[in-house]
Amino acid sequence: MIGGIDENHDHRGPQIAYNRSRMSARETALALTRWFAAAQRDLPWRKTRDPYAIWVSEVMLQQTRVDTVEGYYDGFLRRFPDVESLAAADEDAVLSAWSGLGYYRRARLLHRGARHVVEALNGELPADAVDLRRIPGIGPYTAGAIASIAFDRPEPLVDGNVARVLSRFHAIEDPAGQDAKARRHWDEVAEIVQHGRPRVLTQALMELGATVCTPQRPRCEDCPLQPRCRAHALGRAADIMVTRRKASVRTERYHALLLRCGDRVLLAKRPEGGLLAGLWCPPLVPRQGRRRLPTAAAVEQLLGAGVDVRGAASRDVKHVFTHRIWHLTPCVGGWPRRPRLALEGAAWVPLGGLPVGGVPTVTKKLLGVLEDDGQ
Ligand code: SF4
Repeated sequence: MIGGIDENHDHRGPQIAYNRSRMSARETALALTRWFAAAQRDLPWRKTRDPYAIWVSEVMLQQTRVDTVEGYYDGFLRRFPDVESLAAADEDAVLSAWSGLGYYRRARLLHRGARHVVEALNGELPADAVDLRRIPGIGPYTAGAIASIAFDRPEPLVDGNVARVLSRFHAIEDPAGQDAKARRHWDEVAEIVQHGRPRVLTQALMELGATVCTPQRPRCEDCPLQPRCRAHALGRAADIMVTRRKASVRTERYHALLLRCGDRVLLAKRPEGGLLAGLWCPPLVPRQGRRRLPTAAAVEQLLGAGVDVRGAASRDVKHVFTHRIWHLTPCVGGWPRRPRLALEGAAWVPLGGLPVGGVPTVTKKLLGVLEDDGQ
């Protein structure tokens, strides 16, 4: 699941009976169209109809804030301006362009999808949502986004923002009926997009949820749907779909080994299949109790070589993932000459530089500590 959007679902979720608003789909479409023309934000991916660029933006926007994506979107497209250039790139180059954006699985799936488009579809993204869903990594949401936004096809898409708008509009209190997978939401959007420009209407619904019908303190006074909104009429707007189920978060503690040899520092690619898989990170040793330094035995077991770990850095690093929090104690040390290491995927990276490939934010934080300490 990415971005609160389960791309594997087939939106045949529970059918929830709820009172249909008296506002017809046609009226809803008209109100949304007028509102979107006046209120939409000026975002870079709204300036294009290129299906590849829209695909990139939709993948980036999953579980990531708009202002964060704005900092990556143009750079990624400069580096990979079309599906052919993305398909031809090696994975390290793609992860490098994605570095800092998080949820790197998205980048891998996008890359895999691009290769499929080039190899099996002659480099052309299809306009039809059913055909789009045959591309690896593209599920109902992304297929709906590309079909409606790029090709103006009347295809529905429901993300968390749209689900919140519709749940409040109909005052749906049942959590199953509020879900972005609920069939009624998909059916309703499918009906609405028949009554105007699909590319405008799907974006308008998402925009309304993102900017007006927000999780906390919805601004009903600015909402085009307010005259017929049941939650508003019932005084329940601020109570429906306010809280998200909190994922259980696990805390892990590690010593992060910042080991130098001359003007280089040791990094290693994280093992496949785990957190930050395939991305560059300093070696981590699980921290036992309150020890500020790892034991020599634990370090040697990880690296396959002994090393003089001289001390902990001046400050610890905390990094929060969706389901995990890392508390890291950076420990500095090194060798006068390069040792023979048994650590898989290890590389010596020049201080102040970055390796080719994915460099997650947590690694940048740790290298920043080394720099700040003048090590
Ligand atoms: S009137 Fe308020 S609660 Fe209803 S859809 Fe608009 S912003 Fe959301």
